[in-house]
Amino acid sequence: MSKFDYDLFVIGAGSGGVRASRVAASHGARVAVAEEHRVGGTCVIRGCVPKKLLVYGAHFAEDLKDARHFGWDVPPNCRFDWARLRDNVLAEVTRLEGLYGQTLDNHQVEVFKTRATVAGPQTVRLADGRELTAERILIATGGWPFVPDFPGSEHAITSNEVFHLETLPQRVVIAGGGYIANEFAGIFNEFGSKVTIVNRGDAILRGYDEQIRDRLLQISMTKGIEFRFNAPFQSIEKQADGSLMVHLANCDPIPADAVLVATGRVPNTRGLGLAEAGVELDADGAVKVDEGNRSSVPSIYAVGDVTNRIQLTPVAIREGQAFADSVFGGKPTTVDYANVPSAVFSHPPIGAVGMTEAEARNKLGSIRVYTSDFRAMKNVLAGRNERALYKMVVNEATDQVVGLHLIGPDAPEILQAAAVAVKAGLTKADFDATVALHPSMAEELVLLK
Ligand SMILES: Cc1cc2nc3c(=O)[nH]c(=O)nc-3n(C[C@H](O)[C@H](O)[C@H](O)COP(=O)(O)OP(=O)(O)OC[C@H]3O[C@@H](n4cnc5c(N)ncnc54)[C@H](O)[C@@H]3O)c2cc1C
Repeated sequence: MSKFDYDLFVIGAGSGGVRASRVAASHGARVAVAEEHRVGGTCVIRGCVPKKLLVYGAHFAEDLKDARHFGWDVPPNCRFDWARLRDNVLAEVTRLEGLYGQTLDNHQVEVFKTRATVAGPQTVRLADGRELTAERILIATGGWPFVPDFPGSEHAITSNEVFHLETLPQRVVIAGGGYIANEFAGIFNEFGSKVTIVNRGDAILRGYDEQIRDRLLQISMTKGIEFRFNAPFQSIEKQADGSLMVHLANCDPIPADAVLVATGRVPNTRGLGLAEAGVELDADGAVKVDEGNRSSVPSIYAVGDVTNRIQLTPVAIREGQAFADSVFGGKPTTVDYANVPSAVFSHPPIGAVGMTEAEARNKLGSIRVYTSDFRAMKNVLAGRNERALYKMVVNEATDQVVGLHLIGPDAPEILQAAAVAVKAGLTKADFDATVALHPSMAEELVLLK
């Protein structure tokens, strides 16, 4: 008999924690998991899933307009009901939460619906003070929205609250330039809100290819989204009528009904007892781990956003799987972080994998760049003057495709398939040798000249 209550205690039932718990249990481990909010974590409850459903809902605004060009009679004043979409989305989230809970139950993982902290290298303390022991502890507590400190910041909401808004705000100010800021700008703009993105720097979507970022900026502005650059927040002032006034450096104040702060996410380690247990954290509070997801304390591991490697759900899931297979399944596995694809579900969306043109120039020196700048057939008939841009970055020395960057309708769907080729190290000649699938947008990838 083990001297511990569990073989593994997982703190956080999100993307990484649920996968690690389930797989460790399937390898025969006695597993418990604590979750202080809702099983499923950020992605399912207040991230990828509800966000993507809102993106679908938002895109109908354009589809309904375009439908007339395709012969459909659509009433000129189509009405959008925020409360109906919000409630349907939240109901779907609850359904998925139930499925995640069921998966844990089916694998005999014990779930504690409470906050847990680390009380020692092999001890966890629940919110009610109970202490439980485990041979190993896995920290999978994810990230938390970072809100800069300025007067009136309490009037702002974050992505945690945005899915629950009572009413659709007529005027929205969004702080930030990352993917969450741009995605919600697109969503609210399509719903008819007046949207302003406010950025303290001078660019959006750092890390993405410059031409693709520029294209999104141009299209977003054409659709009516406003941008303020080099304009850090100074304060938010509540007005007598309940609305807000946003004061910025270097710009006129902006009136708003809601202010969404999307200025990044920080590792969720505050008050967890990690430093006290001897776990080393980096300057941002992320748990420092080795290739095997092990922290500086040998019995404590960490996966997902709390380690601040790549903050994406599929990465957290892979890390959770690799941890469980390595530690409990006798199959040592590490995660390969090269060529992780990513998307921005803006209007239109972006999909990207591999090196940007600038990165490739720095790392490889000699490269070739191919672009296709085209109007999707559907947009042509719809009279929508919105151009897609596909960009391929090729290593001159080897002909290998080292980066693909797409913006246009369905770009993430197309990119996921093409990312297989980039991951496999295929060459431009391999793309050229593939016969086009016509008519499609994706065929541009094999016709680049
Ligand atoms: C608005 C938004 C949109 C996103 N969209 C995408 C997307 O389109 N694609 C994508 O790949 N990623 C997306 N992400 C990122 C994705 O959600 C995260 O990368 C992913 O959820 C990380 O998984 P995780 O297991 O590390 O943590 P999480 O999923 O955050 O899970 C951590 C869990 O731990 C719980 N917890 C924390 N502390 C404690 C404690 N002390 N005790 C008990 N429980 C605790 C939390 O309540 C949470 O449920 C999005 C994120 C946001 C915010």
